[in-house]
Amino acid sequence: MKLDQYEVDALMEVTARPPLVFVEGRGSWIVDHRGKRYLDFVQGWAVNALGHCPPEIAQALARQSQRLINPSPAYFNAPAVELAGKLARLSGLERVFLASSGAEANEGAIKLARKWGELKRGGAYEIVTFEGAFHGRTLATMAASGKAGWDKLFEPKVPGFPKARFEDIASVEAVITDKTVAVMLEPVQGEAGVVPASATFLKAVRELCDRRGLLLILDEVQTGVGRTGRMFAFQHAGVRPDVMTLGKGIGGGVPLAALLASGRASCFAHGDQGGTYCGNPLMAAVGNAVIDVVSQPDFLAEVTAKGDYLAQRLRELSARRGLAGEHGSGLLRALDLGRPIAAQVVDAARALEPEGLLLNAPRPSLLRFMPALNVTREEIDRMVAQLDGVLESLA
Ligand SMILES: *Cc1c(COP(=O)(O)O)cnc(C)c1O
Repeated sequence: MKLDQYEVDALMEVTARPPLVFVEGRGSWIVDHRGKRYLDFVQGWAVNALGHCPPEIAQALARQSQRLINPSPAYFNAPAVELAGKLARLSGLERVFLASSGAEANEGAIKLARKWGELKRGGAYEIVTFEGAFHGRTLATMAASGKAGWDKLFEPKVPGFPKARFEDIASVEAVITDKTVAVMLEPVQGEAGVVPASATFLKAVRELCDRRGLLLILDEVQTGVGRTGRMFAFQHAGVRPDVMTLGKGIGGGVPLAALLASGRASCFAHGDQGGTYCGNPLMAAVGNAVIDVVSQPDFLAEVTAKGDYLAQRLRELSARRGLAGEHGSGLLRALDLGRPIAAQVVDAARALEPEGLLLNAPRPSLLRFMPALNVTREEIDRMVAQLDGVLESLA
């Protein structure tokens, strides 16, 4: 397929991409190869915490790229040391391993739990995970996921991930055996349709893990780094995990992720874990820039306020158009359209002229909103007006 001068067929077709090539972006806006602008409420899939090409990231990249790009993960480097210290202070989890993707961080969490089981739990290795969960696309993280349709893919599966039901503590208890070493979950199941775990459920899981001597692993790849209005989503519930993973927003758009563990759970021996790009100073410098902005109390208060504002505007839209309501946490929100037209809405929103709108449909009747954390109220109003127009045209 040729899109003006772009011959796109050499890229392996792993998903249905719309016929346009993005060439630049600024803040909440992104521009395609024909110069059309789109208001972006996908933001790289909840990744671009500060929007497209923010000056903080551009400067961090420019500065670090002229000092040191890659000494090898076998040596300390200044940005990685600084970032690990910040994450440890902010989370209360003392040990940090830096990685490049959410799946890689989760793969590390799974390895850490298995190692802990070998050392402390007589070889226990099973990790209870959840129906609807999404933990990534490596073989182990796919097995840990509970995504519909994945159970028959790439057989045989990595064993050891019995499934429980979200919000159902009895279902967790029911699959725990003497082989169990950990429980792993997302504080808000993003890909499943922005399904938040209640504070009651998270507390019950924490209590169960304490009682049975299991590690609690929270996958905060989508919810961490300010997305829900707190630095980490676990802070809403007042429970602390033993192990946590971060990705997406921590890099503000560059490949950066992290595996964090309490001192007690941090049990890797030399050689157990590593990777060529782990702790790469160029990416870590960006992580420091993102964390410095997002961890400001004023910034997080604004994320909460704008999340509330987006929720209110979506509730009004839902009432006016007879939809099925909205839900979510902070600036990770979903609108239930009440009928399976979400993919159509996404296509029609992108096709709006003169300015398009980028949205995501994680389920047939659900839209998900993952704007930049510094999105403005005007941009939220504009998105709602564009979406209203699309719903009008499809009515
Ligand atoms: C996106 C996501 C992942 C996978 O992260 P990648 O960077 O795509 O590997 C894992 N867990 C959750 C909750 C996610 O949202």
